Amino acid sequence: MDQPQLATRTTLTSQTGLEDLIPDLTDDTISFAGGLPDPAQFPKQAISDSFQRVLANNGLDALQYHNAKGYLPLREQLAERLDQENYQVNADQILLTQGAQQGLDLVAKLLLNKGDHVIVEAPTYVGALAAFAAYEPHYHEIPLESDGMDLVQLNKVLLTQKIKIIYTVPNFQNPTGIVMSLAKRQQLIELANRYNVIILEDDPYHYLRFVGETLPSLKSLDTQGRVISLGSFSKILAPGLRIGWLLAAEPLLKQIRYLKDGADLESPTLTQQVISDYLLHNDFDAHLEVLRKDYLQKRNWMLAALKQYLPAGFSYTQPEGGFFLWLTGPADLNFEKLLREQIAPQEHLLYVPSTHLYASNSVLNSARISYATYDQATIDLGVSKLSQALAREVSH
Ligand code: PMP
Repeated sequence: MDQPQLATRTTLTSQTGLEDLIPDLTDDTISFAGGLPDPAQFPKQAISDSFQRVLANNGLDALQYHNAKGYLPLREQLAERLDQENYQVNADQILLTQGAQQGLDLVAKLLLNKGDHVIVEAPTYVGALAAFAAYEPHYHEIPLESDGMDLVQLNKVLLTQKIKIIYTVPNFQNPTGIVMSLAKRQQLIELANRYNVIILEDDPYHYLRFVGETLPSLKSLDTQGRVISLGSFSKILAPGLRIGWLLAAEPLLKQIRYLKDGADLESPTLTQQVISDYLLHNDFDAHLEVLRKDYLQKRNWMLAALKQYLPAGFSYTQPEGGFFLWLTGPADLNFEKLLREQIAPQEHLLYVPSTHLYASNSVLNSARISYATYDQATIDLGVSKLSQALAREVSH
């Protein structure tokens, strides 16, 4: 068959993908690249018990078609939890999605015409760039400071351009680990109100703060229904269940439901019912506490290894939650070239180079490093190999 002529969106989307950026894994590869939760923390037995119970007690219903909104008891359980954090959403303002990732796609589909202007953090979550690419937006990058987006820059862009969406990962940002301060959250809401912009708050690491106080979500600070907020069970239960949530005010949510109807009809009822059952029969807060302790320990192992092995001339963030830290080297260092030519093939080690984590692909000298997946010995070995390779590179 002749190669069919692909739509522009397909070409644009394939340019953003991680698939070609990260070389293949071999068995002895240490990958600091993926944002994979530690599988040792998946509550496998409890989830298995929930599957058994759901199928035994409610099996025919769990296997049937339902609707795009998602399983009502789970939406009610979520609403109750979110209410304690002042989100002020009821079950009808929640849509259960196939992960937060589907929320990114649906919101872009809802709002973006080709060429519409979108604000993204610099750097930003590569999966958001992949989701948005299909709608062919025009990006404006706002540099990240240690307490979130540079709002002076943001204001300048808002003054001159009609912006459709401000996309932010306010907690333990993927890829930098940075948290947006409360003052900036409040100012961001004010700016969005002034310029009439939708804020897309992508918050899958919300419950993984292991140091310091949880800050109010943008959604809870919003008084005008302009924040759409995404959450997920992926990092806090198991990504294989593929269930996340989207919070939005009516009438936006209704429009998003229509789009979800067209995309996949509904998220899997079976896993929604399993999560609902799991929450009923287990102490989820205790589980979250275990996760936070575990990820804190892993972060500390990685910080200790970086302190011990990393050559001079590098700096890195010290995240208070989530999975990632952001490593920055001397201005002329090219982390992508180094990964492809040396670190992956010779050291069997992976990270995500900064290149594709900027909408503009403009920054080469940083990398996202995940501490989430491994034990102390592997983190130590990986950081020591990485540091030796970096030391060789900068001494040339
Ligand atoms: N947003 C961010 C910031 C993420 O890091 C991820 C996962 N890597 C997602 C969304 C998507 O997660 P999921 O679809 O598994 O909920």
